[in-house]
Amino acid sequence: MLDLSDKIILLVDDDKDFCFLIKMMLKKTQAQLKFVYNGEEAINFMDQQVNRKVDLILLDIQMPLLSGYTVIEIFKKKFPDIPVMAVTAFGMIGEREKCLKSGFDEYLSKPFEELNLVNLIDRLLNPRA
Ligand SMILES: [Mg+2]
Repeated sequence: MLDLSDKIILLVDDDKDFCFLIKMMLKKTQAQLKFVYNGEEAINFMDQQVNRKVDLILLDIQMPLLSGYTVIEIFKKKFPDIPVMAVTAFGMIGEREKCLKSGFDEYLSKPFEELNLVNLIDRLLNPRA
C-alpha cells in the first residue's frame, strides 16, 4: 500500500458524505487529510499555510459561490508547484479536457474506485521520470 504518512492532502468539496468517503478510501495510506467545504474556505486555508506545506489538493468542480474553475485559477497563480486534482460528479464529455486546460493536473469523475484514486495520487506525488 502507498505510504503517504508524510503528506498533507487538502480536500475541497461541499459534499460532506463524499469527504468522509475519501477519508475512508485514503485511510490505509496514512495521509494527513484536511477538509474544507467551499472555495473561499480553501483559499483562506491555503493563504494561512506558512510552514506546513500542502502536498496535494483535491478540488471539487461544482460548489456554491466559487466553482472549482475559479479556485484553480487562483491556486495556479499563488501555488503553482502544488498539484491539484479535479474530483467531479460531472463526467460530461469534454470535462476532462476542460479541467486539464484550466490548470488541473489530474481529473477524476465520481463515482470511482479506491484504486483509481490512490493510483492518481501516487502519480502526482511520486512522478517517475
Ligand atoms: Mg460539489
